[in-house]
Amino acid sequence: MRVLLLEAGRDYPLTFSVPLASFRFTPPYQWRYRTTTQTGLRGRSLAFPTGKVVGGTSSINAMIYYRGPAASYDRWEQFGNTGWSYRDVLQYFRKSDEFVSRPQHIAAFSQSFVDACMETGMRRTDDFNGPQEEGVGFYAVLQRDGRRAGAATSYLDPARRRSNLQVRTSALVRKILLEGNRAAGVELLNGETAFAAGEVILSAGALHSPKTLMLSGIGPADHLKRIGIAARVDLPGVGEHLLDHLHVPVLYGSGQRSPGAHLYWPVAAIQYAIRRQGVLTSNCCESGAIVSTRPDFPMPDVQFVAHFQSPLAPNAVDLEVCLLPHSVPGTVRAVSDDPTALPEVDPKYLVDDADVACAIRGIRLAREIAQAPSLRRFPLHAEILPGKRTSSDADLAGYVRATADSGHHHAGTCKMGNDPMAVVDRFLRVHGIECLRVVDASIMPDIPGGNTCAPVLMIAEKAADLIRSGER
Ligand SMILES: Cc1cc2nc3c(=O)[nH]c(=O)nc-3n(C[C@H](O)[C@H](O)[C@H](O)COP(=O)(O)OP(=O)(O)OC[C@H]3O[C@@H](n4cnc5c(N)ncnc54)[C@H](O)[C@@H]3O)c2cc1C
Repeated sequence: MRVLLLEAGRDYPLTFSVPLASFRFTPPYQWRYRTTTQTGLRGRSLAFPTGKVVGGTSSINAMIYYRGPAASYDRWEQFGNTGWSYRDVLQYFRKSDEFVSRPQHIAAFSQSFVDACMETGMRRTDDFNGPQEEGVGFYAVLQRDGRRAGAATSYLDPARRRSNLQVRTSALVRKILLEGNRAAGVELLNGETAFAAGEVILSAGALHSPKTLMLSGIGPADHLKRIGIAARVDLPGVGEHLLDHLHVPVLYGSGQRSPGAHLYWPVAAIQYAIRRQGVLTSNCCESGAIVSTRPDFPMPDVQFVAHFQSPLAPNAVDLEVCLLPHSVPGTVRAVSDDPTALPEVDPKYLVDDADVACAIRGIRLAREIAQAPSLRRFPLHAEILPGKRTSSDADLAGYVRATADSGHHHAGTCKMGNDPMAVVDRFLRVHGIECLRVVDASIMPDIPGGNTCAPVLMIAEKAADLIRSGER
């Protein structure tokens, strides 16, 4: 088997392997999306960064490795995707184990957050990916020896010297070439073509995969007609069902300077250079909690991510509340046949008041945690956001709509299943097209209740097995 890997962005720079320095939104290495203005967010439009670099977003993300609750995957199977229950996919999650480690650096705030949560009655978990999914603890990270271990370094680098692999960067795929109903290859922006003896695997992420399908004439026929593209296969689900997680800041002044302050960088750089240890191995959010604020909801609905510093205020810490339900899915749509035009992204955030109510429960819980002895001792100073005076449900709802931001967990836009809106089947093959698979966050039939990188790696591992087994 020979593989040609095409990446629109550049190669992975070595500096990206230093964790604290790397999960920055560095311009040439990211796509600069914005959402449409969101009614649920008081007319705001959110920035939507994703990686434009070898390794994709796993090369610029915050490295948290959290699979999400087992029940998320059992639901995937209940949607008709046999072979995708947690019991089935666990073996593929485990293949990433060698790239996952405990955080090496634990800031005083991260530890105090864990202790404070336990003082409010939460259970401690040693491993969010183990049998006790709910509780408070430290997040595992995709790191090896203090370096980022994303898709580029963990999976691609060891294979780079193989004679059957060619990696081409700055190679933007314009569209998939179809011969009848078979994917024959791809056409690049510069007009070059590449033909596949086997199959074409589309892994452009939850925003670009649906766009690329649409530019190839695969998608909702009425929309394709509107933008002047001849429909080859009418697949109404392409670009539908966009899901994401929102988060809201709960900010407190801190009695301690952040260990990530630039002042400490010279010492940190020496410590990192000699031993690959210290704050430079950190992602700023070392601890957190997974909680159910609504007993009747089938899964945890709030994730706390405790940041020991915040871009929103100097000397502040953030007990960030991530709301896991996204009740009304959004859409991604190509706007023309221009492959360089970014698609229109409308996540339809907070259309359902139930999602706002979930965020409010999370904020109230964060306030309770902040009052617990360990965080008082840390010490936490005054609440900066939402601010003590923002306390009624109506005030907090206004705060949530005014400040919620994307957790960058876009998923679901080429969802797997058998219903009329499904785009791929359980073997990840695009319905109605031969020799074309989608392998990325877009195939998720529902977003797992947690971060999305671990599930994407699992999907890729399972896809590798499906491809190897010749299941076309
Ligand atoms: C700032 C940030 C922090 C995050 N932190 C975490 C975290 O801590 N933990 C976690 O689990 N998740 C995190 N995530 C989310 C997670 O990283 C992503 O969900 C996941 O990496 C998505 O993988 P993917 O393969 O679907 O898409 P991507 O990783 O986005 O890969 C798509 C690739 O395709 C390329 N591409 C797109 N279009 C074309 C084209 N036409 N031709 C050629 N190439 C193309 C892109 O350049 C990109 O390299 C974070 C995301 C962001 C943005």
